[in-house]
Amino acid sequence: MSNVEKLDMADFSEILTAFEQALELERELGTRTVDCDRALLAPVSREDRERQEGREHRERQDGRWGREWQEGRDLRDLRESRDIGDSKGEKLDLPTAEELAACTKCPLATLGRQHVVPGQGNANSPDFMFIGEAPGEAEDRQGLAFVGAAGQFLTKMIAAMGYAREQVFIANICKCRPPNNRTPNPQEMEACLPYLKRQIAAIRPKCIVLLGRTAERGLFSGQHIRRGMWYSYDGVPVISTFHPSYIIRFNPATDPAGLRAAKMEVWNTLKLALAKLGKQPPKR
Ligand code: URA
Repeated sequence: MSNVEKLDMADFSEILTAFEQALELERELGTRTVDCDRALLAPVSREDRERQEGREHRERQDGRWGREWQEGRDLRDLRESRDIGDSKGEKLDLPTAEELAACTKCPLATLGRQHVVPGQGNANSPDFMFIGEAPGEAEDRQGLAFVGAAGQFLTKMIAAMGYAREQVFIANICKCRPPNNRTPNPQEMEACLPYLKRQIAAIRPKCIVLLGRTAERGLFSGQHIRRGMWYSYDGVPVISTFHPSYIIRFNPATDPAGLRAAKMEVWNTLKLALAKLGKQPPKR
């Protein structure tokens, strides 16, 4: 079976850039050699190429390429726009806990919330702002973002980067807990987004790290965002990685490789985020 995949040139150049950034980072961290399977460097055989061309032909006929091209084009549009965020017209002040507590803009206000959770941390142009989905049970009880099990993992991520939680800002797309921790729906996200926009505009983080799909969809209104790639929101560089809940759901006993791969991906993204600000993780 051929392992050659169809890539358009934009994807290919994106992969090369990410690869280059990763190698550069490793070099800066003192790595001098890399392991490499020579078989992967071998030229593609004519047989493989012909098999691949046959597959491409069938895929073109069943329309799959059209969809992939469409997705690729959306992404290129995104990359080419210098800045896809927009807080123009929003008030520049931070929403206060009192203002949020009085919010009734969506049904989450009436679905049993105990506290509205504005988010917390360094609101004075911190290096990083982390954005999650919505408060869970512990967050709803305490009125603080990321203080439950996922929060403990986020704390470890932040510490590995060389920061304390108080040095970064931690927020969510939705400020209220959805019943049974369900994913917030698009209407709830849209109703809450102006608060997050005001937070970003007032806090002016140097870099935003999105945690998971809901954060990607919430901030970029359903546009296709790729983990580990750079975007811009209102002039602030944005990168996305897995939500901490995704990582802690792996069972280390039954899926150690999955856990390791997911953690590695998160760590590589966090290193890219640090490198964006000219920083390195602390030596351990
Ligand atoms: N998950 C989130 O997305 N946010 C929190 O604050 C807690 C858990």
